[in-house]
Amino acid sequence: ARMNGRNLHEFYLEGSREIVPEILRIEQKLFRALDNAEFTLVYQPYLNAKTHEPGGMEALLRWKNNELGSVSPGVFIPLLEDTGMIVEVGNFILRTVCQQIAVWQRRGLTVVPVSVNLSPLQFKQLDLPNNILKMTDDTGISPRLLNLEITESAFMEDAEYSRRMLMQLREAGTSVSIDDFGTGYSSLSYLKRFPINHLKIDISFVRDIADPEIEAIVRAIIGLAENLHLKTIAEGVETEEQSFKLRSLGADYLQGYLFSKPVPADEVTRFLSGPIKT
Ligand code: C2E
Ligand code: CA
Ligand code: CA
Ligand code: CA
Repeated sequence: ARMNGRNLHEFYLEGSREIVPEILRIEQKLFRALDNAEFTLVYQPYLNAKTHEPGGMEALLRWKNNELGSVSPGVFIPLLEDTGMIVEVGNFILRTVCQQIAVWQRRGLTVVPVSVNLSPLQFKQLDLPNNILKMTDDTGISPRLLNLEITESAFMEDAEYSRRMLMQLREAGTSVSIDDFGTGYSSLSYLKRFPINHLKIDISFVRDIADPEIEAIVRAIIGLAENLHLKTIAEGVETEEQSFKLRSLGADYLQGYLFSKPVPADEVTRFLSGPIKT
């Protein structure tokens, strides 16, 4: 069984006896991946829905192994989480992003905030705010250029802990987005109590935005965000129709293949220098 580009879930569902050895084989390679410098980051911009000026960009992890080739994040991220390796790899990601921002700034580019996906396990690390402050200090960048994307599931377990952690992150200067908003089931009351900056409208809603009932959900999410003074970012925008509809519904930012695929660090100059055309 080959796992490239496929979701871990599909493998479990197949129920094949070859699956477990295959996962173990991938895990063994994953254990060495950090030391072997097999991880890289790509960056995907999100842009102001009205002006198309870049508002920020999201860092996304890529893993290429000599024998396995490129493995999909849908496969290896869950393995990093299950094994706990995501904490160490997550720190590598944060450090790499800080160093990269410093490099862009030295080249004279006006850097927009970079969003880093934070796994629930990373969010549980008490030293996260201090780690971030140390990394931004070491690299000489402003913590305001860092944004953390967190899914609702990461902070529903212990609301009081989460509120305090989010307060500390805000004090450190980083902003926070709720990723995949609307897909987890949770009380909406936390939106008011927690210091949050953006809601990311999940790709599944964007894909089906032509469906009037889905449109109603997106309209409600945007209305909720406006009333709570949160910005919305719609992810997975692939067509002009989706872009137009989201803009007319009042989404603040748009992200997706229509504007740019995730690209290596040396290609971001393309969208740091002005409006993005489609
Ligand atoms: P996510 O955070 O929801 O990331 C959005 C995913 O949608 C990315 O997939 C991105 O490449 C993809 N995407 C962007 N625009 C479009 C579009 O127009 N159409 C479609 N169909 N897809 C689009 P990717 O890079 O494969 O990442 C998948 C998931 O893996 C991410 O979902 C995130 O949960 C996780 N992940 C990726 N990088 C990291 C990381 O550095 N740390 C952590 N903890 N998780 C990560
Ligand atoms: Ca994300
Ligand atoms: Ca997302
Ligand atoms: Ca997702």
